[in-house]
Amino acid sequence: MDTGGLPTLTQDDLVVRTLGERSFPSPLDGGLLERGESLHYVTEDDRVLVDSSLSRAVRRGVPVEQLPSFEPGGPRRTLFFDPARTRVGIVTCGGLCPGLNNVIRGLVVELYEHYGVRYVLGFRNGYHGLTADGEEPEVLTPTSVQWINSQGGTVLGTSRGSQDPAVMVETLRLRRIDVLFVIGGDGSLRGAQAIADEAEARGLPLAVVGVPKTIDNDIPWIDRSFGFQTAFGRAAESIRSAHTEARSTRNGVGLIKLMGRHSGFIACYATLASDDADLVLIPEVAMPLEGERGVLAHIERVLDTQGHAVVVVAEGAGQDLFAASTAADASGNAKLHDIGALLRDRVTAHLAASGREFSLRYVDPGYAIRSVPANAHDSVYCTRLAQAAVHAAMAGRTSIVAGRWHGRFVHLPIPLVTASRNQVDSKGDLWLSVLEATGQPVFV
Ligand code: ATP
Ligand code: MG
Repeated sequence: MDTGGLPTLTQDDLVVRTLGERSFPSPLDGGLLERGESLHYVTEDDRVLVDSSLSRAVRRGVPVEQLPSFEPGGPRRTLFFDPARTRVGIVTCGGLCPGLNNVIRGLVVELYEHYGVRYVLGFRNGYHGLTADGEEPEVLTPTSVQWINSQGGTVLGTSRGSQDPAVMVETLRLRRIDVLFVIGGDGSLRGAQAIADEAEARGLPLAVVGVPKTIDNDIPWIDRSFGFQTAFGRAAESIRSAHTEARSTRNGVGLIKLMGRHSGFIACYATLASDDADLVLIPEVAMPLEGERGVLAHIERVLDTQGHAVVVVAEGAGQDLFAASTAADASGNAKLHDIGALLRDRVTAHLAASGREFSLRYVDPGYAIRSVPANAHDSVYCTRLAQAAVHAAMAGRTSIVAGRWHGRFVHLPIPLVTASRNQVDSKGDLWLSVLEATGQPVFV
Protein backbone atom coordinates (compact mmCIF):
# COMPACT_ATOMS: atom_id res chain seq x y z
CA MET A 1 0.00 0.00 0.00
CA ASP A 2 1.54 3.34 -1.04
CA THR A 3 0.47 5.82 1.62
CA GLY A 4 2.47 8.67 0.10
CA GLY A 5 4.63 8.96 3.22
CA LEU A 6 1.77 8.88 5.72
CA PRO A 7 2.35 6.39 8.54
CA THR A 8 -0.13 3.52 8.50
CA LEU A 9 -2.32 3.22 11.57
CA THR A 10 -4.99 0.98 12.94
CA GLN A 11 -7.40 1.71 15.75
CA ASP A 12 -5.37 -0.69 17.93
CA ASP A 13 -2.45 1.78 17.88
CA LEU A 14 -4.71 4.44 19.39
CA VAL A 15 -6.19 2.50 22.30
CA VAL A 16 -5.62 4.34 25.57
CA ARG A 17 -4.62 2.38 28.66
CA THR A 18 -6.85 2.96 31.66
CA LEU A 19 -6.37 1.92 35.27
CA GLY A 20 -9.97 0.72 35.67
CA GLU A 21 -13.54 1.52 36.57
CA ARG A 22 -14.23 5.12 37.63
CA SER A 23 -16.33 5.55 40.75
CA PHE A 24 -15.68 9.06 42.09
CA PRO A 25 -17.86 11.94 40.93
CA SER A 26 -15.81 14.81 39.54
CA PRO A 27 -15.90 17.89 41.78
CA LEU A 28 -15.49 20.22 38.80
CA ASP A 29 -19.21 21.02 38.63
CA GLY A 30 -19.09 23.21 41.71
CA GLY A 31 -22.81 22.73 42.42
CA LEU A 32 -23.94 23.11 38.81
CA LEU A 33 -25.31 19.58 38.82
CA GLU A 34 -27.75 20.34 41.68
CA ARG A 35 -29.13 23.16 39.59
CA GLY A 36 -29.75 20.76 36.73
CA GLU A 37 -26.85 22.09 34.67
CA SER A 38 -23.58 20.47 33.74
CA LEU A 39 -20.12 21.24 32.46
CA HIS A 40 -19.05 20.02 29.09
CA TYR A 41 -17.90 16.57 30.17
CA VAL A 42 -16.29 14.28 27.63
CA THR A 43 -18.40 11.23 26.87
CA GLU A 44 -16.95 7.84 25.98
CA ASP A 45 -18.50 7.81 22.51
CA ASP A 46 -16.73 11.00 21.38
CA ARG A 47 -13.62 10.56 19.22
CA VAL A 48 -11.27 12.90 17.33
CA LEU A 49 -10.57 11.90 13.73
CA VAL A 50 -6.91 11.29 12.89
CA ASP A 51 -7.16 12.61 9.34
CA SER A 52 -8.59 16.00 8.58
CA SER A 53 -9.59 15.09 5.06
CA LEU A 54 -10.99 11.99 3.40
CA SER A 55 -8.20 11.87 0.82
CA ARG A 56 -5.60 11.53 3.58
CA ALA A 57 -7.57 8.74 5.24
CA VAL A 58 -7.94 6.91 1.95
CA ARG A 59 -4.20 7.29 1.23
CA ARG A 60 -3.53 5.73 4.61
CA GLY A 61 -5.44 2.70 3.35
CA VAL A 62 -8.36 3.03 5.73
CA PRO A 63 -11.85 1.98 4.72
CA VAL A 64 -13.76 5.22 5.25
CA GLU A 65 -16.19 3.62 7.70
CA GLN A 66 -13.21 2.72 9.91
CA LEU A 67 -11.55 6.14 10.16
CA PRO A 68 -8.98 5.99 12.96
CA SER A 69 -9.70 8.37 15.82
CA PHE A 70 -8.13 9.59 19.04
CA GLU A 71 -9.69 9.66 22.48
CA PRO A 72 -10.52 13.30 23.24
CA GLY A 73 -9.02 15.09 26.24
CA GLY A 74 -11.11 16.96 28.77
CA PRO A 75 -12.97 16.45 32.05
CA ARG A 76 -14.87 13.24 32.75
CA ARG A 77 -17.98 13.20 34.93
CA THR A 78 -16.53 10.39 37.03
CA LEU A 79 -12.95 9.86 38.21
CA PHE A 80 -10.71 6.88 38.90
CA PHE A 81 -8.90 8.66 41.73
CA ASP A 82 -10.54 10.17 44.79
CA PRO A 83 -9.10 13.71 44.66
CA ALA A 84 -8.94 14.13 48.44
CA ARG A 85 -6.61 11.09 48.71
CA THR A 86 -4.64 11.44 45.49
CA ARG A 87 -0.88 11.96 45.72
CA VAL A 88 0.81 13.42 42.66
CA GLY A 89 4.40 13.70 41.42
CA ILE A 90 5.78 15.94 38.69
CA VAL A 91 9.14 15.61 36.94
CA THR A 92 10.81 17.54 34.09
CA CYS A 93 13.54 15.82 32.01
CA GLY A 94 15.74 16.48 28.97
CA GLY A 95 16.74 19.86 27.54
CA LEU A 96 15.19 23.23 28.34
CA CYS A 97 12.23 24.54 26.39
CA PRO A 98 10.11 27.68 26.89
CA GLY A 99 6.97 26.89 28.86
CA LEU A 100 8.18 24.18 31.27
CA ASN A 101 7.32 26.31 34.29
CA ASN A 102 3.93 27.18 32.79
CA VAL A 103 3.12 23.48 32.54
CA ILE A 104 4.25 22.83 36.12
CA ARG A 105 2.15 25.72 37.35
CA GLY A 106 -0.82 24.65 35.23
CA LEU A 107 -0.70 21.12 36.67
CA VAL A 108 -0.47 22.28 40.28
CA VAL A 109 -3.21 24.88 39.98
CA GLU A 110 -5.60 22.54 38.16
CA LEU A 111 -5.00 19.75 40.68
CA TYR A 112 -5.52 22.03 43.66
CA GLU A 113 -8.13 24.50 42.57
CA HIS A 114 -10.38 22.35 40.46
CA TYR A 115 -9.96 18.85 41.78
CA GLY A 116 -9.11 19.57 45.40
CA VAL A 117 -5.93 17.45 45.32
CA ARG A 118 -3.78 18.41 48.32
CA TYR A 119 -0.50 16.60 47.78
CA VAL A 120 1.79 17.45 44.87
CA LEU A 121 5.52 16.66 44.92
CA GLY A 122 8.02 18.08 42.47
CA PHE A 123 10.84 15.59 41.89
CA ARG A 124 14.20 17.30 41.42
CA ASN A 125 16.54 17.13 38.43
CA GLY A 126 14.70 14.78 36.10
CA TYR A 127 14.56 11.05 36.61
CA HIS A 128 17.56 11.27 38.92
CA GLY A 129 15.13 12.70 41.49
CA LEU A 130 13.24 9.38 41.41
CA THR A 131 16.26 7.35 42.47
CA ALA A 132 17.47 6.47 45.95
CA ASP A 133 20.20 9.14 45.89
CA GLY A 134 18.00 11.83 44.31
CA GLU A 135 17.58 15.17 46.04
CA GLU A 136 14.61 15.56 48.40
CA PRO A 137 11.50 16.46 46.33
CA GLU A 138 9.78 19.77 46.81
CA VAL A 139 6.14 20.15 47.93
CA LEU A 140 4.34 22.23 45.30
CA THR A 141 1.33 24.41 46.08
CA PRO A 142 -0.50 27.10 44.12
CA THR A 143 1.35 29.65 46.25
CA SER A 144 4.78 28.15 45.62
CA VAL A 145 4.24 28.09 41.85
CA GLN A 146 2.43 31.42 41.66
CA TRP A 147 5.15 33.34 39.81
CA ILE A 148 7.17 30.66 38.10
CA ASN A 149 5.50 31.11 34.71
CA SER A 150 7.29 34.40 34.21
CA GLN A 151 10.66 32.60 34.26
CA GLY A 152 12.30 30.40 31.64
CA GLY A 153 13.88 27.05 32.49
CA THR A 154 12.33 24.65 35.00
CA VAL A 155 12.10 25.27 38.74
CA LEU A 156 12.37 21.51 39.29
CA GLY A 157 15.67 21.17 37.42
CA THR A 158 16.31 18.54 34.78
CA SER A 159 18.88 15.92 33.81
CA ARG A 160 19.92 13.31 31.28
CA GLY A 161 21.32 9.86 32.00
CA SER A 162 19.60 6.52 32.39
CA GLN A 163 17.80 5.39 35.54
CA ASP A 164 16.36 1.98 36.41
CA PRO A 165 12.54 1.93 36.06
CA ALA A 166 12.31 -0.60 38.93
CA VAL A 167 14.12 1.86 41.24
CA MET A 168 11.94 4.77 40.12
CA VAL A 169 8.72 2.80 40.64
CA GLU A 170 9.95 1.76 44.09
CA THR A 171 10.51 5.44 44.97
CA LEU A 172 6.98 6.25 43.78
CA ARG A 173 5.55 3.32 45.76
CA LEU A 174 7.35 4.31 48.95
CA ARG A 175 6.05 7.86 48.60
CA ARG A 176 2.57 6.50 47.78
CA ILE A 177 2.35 8.47 44.53
CA ASP A 178 -0.80 7.70 42.48
CA VAL A 179 -0.15 9.96 39.51
CA LEU A 180 3.14 10.90 37.85
CA PHE A 181 3.30 13.71 35.31
CA VAL A 182 6.37 13.61 33.07
CA ILE A 183 7.21 16.76 31.13
CA GLY A 184 9.88 15.73 28.65
CA GLY A 185 10.92 14.75 25.15
CA ASP A 186 11.08 11.43 23.33
CA GLY A 187 13.65 9.97 25.73
CA SER A 188 11.69 11.05 28.80
CA LEU A 189 8.52 9.61 27.34
CA ARG A 190 10.23 6.25 26.72
CA GLY A 191 11.24 6.44 30.37
CA ALA A 192 7.63 7.25 31.32
CA GLN A 193 6.43 4.20 29.39
CA ALA A 194 9.00 2.04 31.19
CA ILE A 195 7.72 3.35 34.54
CA ALA A 196 4.10 2.69 33.56
CA ASP A 197 4.96 -0.85 32.40
CA GLU A 198 6.88 -1.58 35.58
CA ALA A 199 3.98 -0.30 37.72
CA GLU A 200 1.52 -2.41 35.76
CA ALA A 201 3.72 -5.49 36.14
CA ARG A 202 3.69 -4.94 39.89
CA GLY A 203 -0.07 -4.36 39.98
CA LEU A 204 0.38 -0.75 41.16
CA PRO A 205 -2.47 1.54 40.02
CA LEU A 206 -0.12 4.35 38.94
CA ALA A 207 -1.24 6.81 36.26
CA VAL A 208 1.70 8.03 34.14
CA VAL A 209 0.74 10.98 31.96
CA GLY A 210 3.17 12.94 29.82
CA VAL A 211 3.20 16.47 28.52
CA PRO A 212 5.42 16.22 25.45
CA LYS A 213 8.25 18.72 25.33
CA THR A 214 10.20 19.33 22.16
CA ILE A 215 11.54 22.71 21.16
CA ASP A 216 12.24 21.19 17.70
CA ASN A 217 8.52 20.39 17.20
CA ASP A 218 9.57 16.86 16.23
CA ILE A 219 7.09 14.81 18.28
CA PRO A 220 4.46 13.38 15.90
CA TRP A 221 0.66 13.51 16.17
CA ILE A 222 0.67 16.95 17.76
CA ASP A 223 -0.37 20.11 15.91
CA ARG A 224 2.56 22.02 17.38
CA SER A 225 4.61 21.46 20.53
CA PHE A 226 4.56 23.96 23.40
CA GLY A 227 7.43 26.45 23.41
CA PHE A 228 7.93 26.10 19.68
CA GLN A 229 6.28 29.39 18.79
CA THR A 230 8.27 31.23 21.47
CA ALA A 231 11.46 29.58 20.23
CA PHE A 232 11.09 30.47 16.57
CA GLY A 233 10.02 34.01 17.50
CA ARG A 234 13.25 34.45 19.46
CA ALA A 235 15.23 32.76 16.68
CA ALA A 236 13.74 35.18 14.14
CA GLU A 237 15.11 38.06 16.25
CA SER A 238 18.59 36.52 16.01
CA ILE A 239 18.27 36.24 12.24
CA ARG A 240 17.13 39.86 12.05
CA SER A 241 20.13 41.07 14.11
CA ALA A 242 22.53 39.03 11.99
CA HIS A 243 20.91 40.51 8.90
CA THR A 244 21.36 44.05 10.22
CA GLU A 245 25.04 43.38 10.88
CA ALA A 246 25.64 41.67 7.54
CA ARG A 247 23.99 44.56 5.69
CA SER A 248 26.17 47.08 7.48
CA THR A 249 29.46 45.74 6.13
CA ARG A 250 30.76 45.18 2.62
CA ASN A 251 30.07 41.55 1.63
CA GLY A 252 28.87 40.85 5.14
CA VAL A 253 27.84 37.25 5.79
CA GLY A 254 25.64 36.37 8.78
CA LEU A 255 25.64 32.68 9.71
CA ILE A 256 23.10 31.62 12.34
CA LYS A 257 22.99 28.14 13.84
CA LEU A 258 19.57 27.21 15.21
CA MET A 259 18.17 24.18 17.02
CA GLY A 260 16.83 21.23 15.08
CA ARG A 261 18.60 17.91 15.68
CA HIS A 262 16.48 15.90 13.27
CA SER A 263 13.81 18.36 12.17
CA GLY A 264 14.28 21.81 10.71
CA PHE A 265 11.01 23.39 11.83
CA ILE A 266 12.61 26.19 13.88
CA ALA A 267 14.92 27.11 11.01
CA CYS A 268 11.99 27.14 8.56
CA TYR A 269 9.57 29.12 10.73
CA ALA A 270 12.18 31.60 11.98
CA THR A 271 13.23 32.18 8.38
CA LEU A 272 9.65 32.79 7.27
CA ALA A 273 9.04 35.03 10.30
CA SER A 274 12.08 37.24 9.65
CA ASP A 275 12.17 36.91 5.86
CA ASP A 276 15.83 37.94 6.00
CA ALA A 277 17.61 34.68 5.12
CA ASP A 278 19.10 33.85 1.74
CA LEU A 279 19.77 30.20 2.48
CA VAL A 280 18.34 27.69 4.97
CA LEU A 281 19.88 24.31 5.65
CA ILE A 282 17.91 21.63 7.50
CA PRO A 283 18.53 17.98 8.42
CA GLU A 284 15.83 16.71 6.09
CA VAL A 285 17.44 18.09 2.93
CA ALA A 286 21.01 17.14 1.94
CA MET A 287 23.13 20.07 0.79
CA PRO A 288 26.16 19.91 -1.49
CA LEU A 289 28.78 22.49 -0.53
CA GLU A 290 30.60 22.53 -3.85
CA GLY A 291 29.35 22.91 -7.40
CA GLU A 292 27.19 25.32 -9.33
CA ARG A 293 24.09 24.53 -7.27
CA GLY A 294 26.00 24.15 -4.01
CA VAL A 295 25.98 26.23 -0.85
CA LEU A 296 29.25 28.11 -1.52
CA ALA A 297 28.30 29.16 -5.05
CA HIS A 298 24.89 30.32 -3.85
CA ILE A 299 26.43 32.52 -1.15
CA GLU A 300 28.81 34.03 -3.71
CA ARG A 301 25.93 34.79 -6.09
CA VAL A 302 23.93 36.45 -3.29
CA LEU A 303 26.92 38.60 -2.33
CA ASP A 304 27.40 39.63 -5.97
CA THR A 305 23.79 40.70 -6.39
CA GLN A 306 22.92 41.96 -2.91
CA GLY A 307 26.21 42.81 -1.18
CA HIS A 308 25.46 40.72 1.91
CA ALA A 309 24.11 37.25 2.72
CA VAL A 310 22.30 35.58 5.61
CA VAL A 311 22.56 31.82 6.11
CA VAL A 312 20.49 29.83 8.62
CA VAL A 313 21.58 26.32 9.52
CA ALA A 314 19.82 23.81 11.78
CA GLU A 315 22.23 22.00 14.10
CA GLY A 316 21.42 18.59 12.62
CA ALA A 317 21.93 19.62 8.99
CA GLY A 318 24.85 18.35 6.91
CA GLN A 319 25.89 15.57 9.27
CA ASP A 320 26.85 13.52 6.20
CA LEU A 321 29.72 15.98 5.63
CA PHE A 322 31.55 14.52 8.64
CA ALA A 323 33.19 11.15 9.25
CA ALA A 324 30.81 8.80 11.12
CA SER A 325 31.22 8.73 14.89
CA THR A 326 29.59 6.90 17.78
CA ALA A 327 29.84 9.66 20.41
CA ALA A 328 26.67 9.97 22.55
CA ASP A 329 25.41 12.03 25.49
CA ALA A 330 24.46 10.63 28.92
CA SER A 331 21.01 9.64 27.65
CA GLY A 332 22.43 7.80 24.65
CA ASN A 333 21.51 10.48 22.08
CA ALA A 334 24.08 10.69 19.26
CA LYS A 335 26.31 13.77 19.59
CA LEU A 336 26.03 16.04 16.59
CA HIS A 337 28.99 17.33 14.63
CA ASP A 338 29.31 21.11 14.63
CA ILE A 339 27.89 22.04 11.24
CA GLY A 340 27.95 25.74 12.15
CA ALA A 341 31.72 25.76 12.64
CA LEU A 342 32.28 23.69 9.50
CA LEU A 343 30.24 26.13 7.42
CA ARG A 344 31.99 29.11 8.99
CA ASP A 345 35.39 27.66 8.07
CA ARG A 346 34.43 26.52 4.58
CA VAL A 347 32.66 29.76 3.64
CA THR A 348 35.57 31.82 5.02
CA ALA A 349 38.13 29.77 3.06
CA HIS A 350 36.03 29.93 -0.12
CA LEU A 351 35.47 33.70 -0.02
CA ALA A 352 39.10 34.36 0.92
CA ALA A 353 40.22 32.27 -2.08
CA SER A 354 37.96 34.33 -4.34
CA GLY A 355 39.95 37.41 -3.37
CA ARG A 356 36.92 39.33 -2.11
CA GLU A 357 36.89 41.65 0.83
CA PHE A 358 34.25 40.20 3.20
CA SER A 359 33.40 39.70 6.84
CA LEU A 360 31.61 36.71 8.32
CA ARG A 361 29.86 36.69 11.68
CA TYR A 362 28.80 33.34 13.15
CA VAL A 363 26.19 33.26 15.93
CA ASP A 364 24.81 30.32 17.91
CA PRO A 365 21.86 31.68 19.94
CA GLY A 366 20.63 28.21 21.02
CA TYR A 367 20.97 28.67 24.77
CA ALA A 368 19.39 32.12 24.68
CA ILE A 369 16.43 30.70 22.74
CA ARG A 370 15.90 27.66 24.99
CA SER A 371 15.87 29.65 28.20
CA VAL A 372 13.36 32.42 27.45
CA PRO A 373 9.95 32.44 29.15
CA ALA A 374 6.98 31.33 27.06
CA ASN A 375 5.20 33.99 25.00
CA ALA A 376 1.48 34.68 25.40
CA HIS A 377 0.39 32.04 22.88
CA ASP A 378 2.56 29.32 24.39
CA SER A 379 1.53 30.32 27.93
CA VAL A 380 -2.11 29.70 27.06
CA TYR A 381 -1.22 26.45 25.34
CA CYS A 382 0.88 25.19 28.27
CA THR A 383 -1.88 25.90 30.76
CA ARG A 384 -4.47 24.13 28.64
CA LEU A 385 -2.20 21.13 27.98
CA ALA A 386 -1.61 20.86 31.73
CA GLN A 387 -5.36 20.95 32.36
CA ALA A 388 -5.93 18.22 29.77
CA ALA A 389 -3.17 16.11 31.37
CA VAL A 390 -4.79 16.45 34.82
CA HIS A 391 -8.23 15.50 33.47
CA ALA A 392 -6.71 12.40 31.84
CA ALA A 393 -4.84 11.30 34.95
CA MET A 394 -7.77 11.83 37.34
CA ALA A 395 -9.90 9.65 35.02
CA GLY A 396 -7.30 6.88 35.36
CA ARG A 397 -5.65 7.16 31.96
CA THR A 398 -2.05 6.02 31.85
CA SER A 399 0.83 5.59 29.36
CA ILE A 400 -0.44 8.55 27.40
CA VAL A 401 0.51 12.12 26.62
CA ALA A 402 -1.83 15.06 26.39
CA GLY A 403 -1.60 16.59 22.94
CA ARG A 404 -3.57 18.72 20.53
CA TRP A 405 -4.63 17.46 17.11
CA HIS A 406 -6.67 19.53 14.64
CA GLY A 407 -7.23 22.00 17.49
CA ARG A 408 -8.72 19.40 19.88
CA PHE A 409 -7.01 18.13 23.02
CA VAL A 410 -6.46 14.38 22.71
CA HIS A 411 -4.92 11.41 24.55
CA LEU A 412 -2.05 9.88 22.56
CA PRO A 413 -0.59 6.51 23.60
CA ILE A 414 3.10 7.04 24.45
CA PRO A 415 4.32 4.25 22.10
CA LEU A 416 2.60 6.08 19.24
CA VAL A 417 4.44 9.36 19.84
CA THR A 418 7.85 7.75 20.40
CA ALA A 419 7.60 5.45 17.35
CA SER A 420 8.22 8.11 14.73
CA ARG A 421 9.35 11.69 14.30
CA ASN A 422 7.70 14.79 12.91
CA GLN A 423 9.89 16.17 10.12
CA VAL A 424 9.77 18.84 7.47
CA ASP A 425 8.53 17.22 4.27
CA SER A 426 11.12 18.11 1.62
CA LYS A 427 8.34 17.98 -0.98
CA GLY A 428 5.74 19.68 1.19
CA ASP A 429 4.30 23.17 1.25
CA LEU A 430 6.32 24.42 4.26
CA TRP A 431 9.66 23.72 2.60
CA LEU A 432 8.35 25.18 -0.65
CA SER A 433 7.47 28.40 1.21
CA VAL A 434 11.02 28.52 2.56
CA LEU A 435 12.47 28.05 -0.93
CA GLU A 436 10.22 30.85 -2.17
CA ALA A 437 11.29 33.13 0.69
CA THR A 438 15.03 32.55 0.31
CA GLY A 439 15.40 32.01 -3.43
CA GLN A 440 17.90 29.25 -2.72
CA PRO A 441 18.48 26.38 -5.15
CA VAL A 442 16.36 23.27 -4.73
CA PHE A 443 18.76 20.66 -3.37
CA VAL A 444 17.85 17.16 -4.38
P1 ATP B 1 15.29 16.35 24.60
O1 ATP B 1 14.23 16.95 23.77
O2 ATP B 1 16.04 17.37 25.34
O3 ATP B 1 16.13 15.36 23.88
P2 ATP B 1 14.48 14.04 26.04
O4 ATP B 1 13.39 13.75 26.99
O5 ATP B 1 14.48 13.21 24.77
O6 ATP B 1 14.45 15.57 25.73
P3 ATP B 1 16.84 12.65 27.00
O7 ATP B 1 18.05 13.21 27.65
O8 ATP B 1 17.01 11.85 25.75
O9 ATP B 1 15.88 13.89 26.78
O10 ATP B 1 16.07 11.72 28.03
C1 ATP B 1 15.59 12.20 29.28
C2 ATP B 1 15.55 11.09 30.28
O11 ATP B 1 14.83 9.96 29.75
C3 ATP B 1 16.92 10.59 30.68
O12 ATP B 1 16.96 10.42 32.08
C4 ATP B 1 17.04 9.28 29.95
O13 ATP B 1 17.86 8.35 30.63
C5 ATP B 1 15.62 8.78 29.87
N1 ATP B 1 15.48 7.92 28.69
C6 ATP B 1 15.91 8.21 27.44
N2 ATP B 1 15.65 7.20 26.59
C7 ATP B 1 15.05 6.23 27.32
C8 ATP B 1 14.55 4.91 27.02
N3 ATP B 1 14.61 4.39 25.78
N4 ATP B 1 14.00 4.20 28.03
C9 ATP B 1 13.95 4.71 29.28
N5 ATP B 1 14.39 5.93 29.63
C10 ATP B 1 14.94 6.68 28.67
MG1 MG C 1 15.24 13.65 22.83
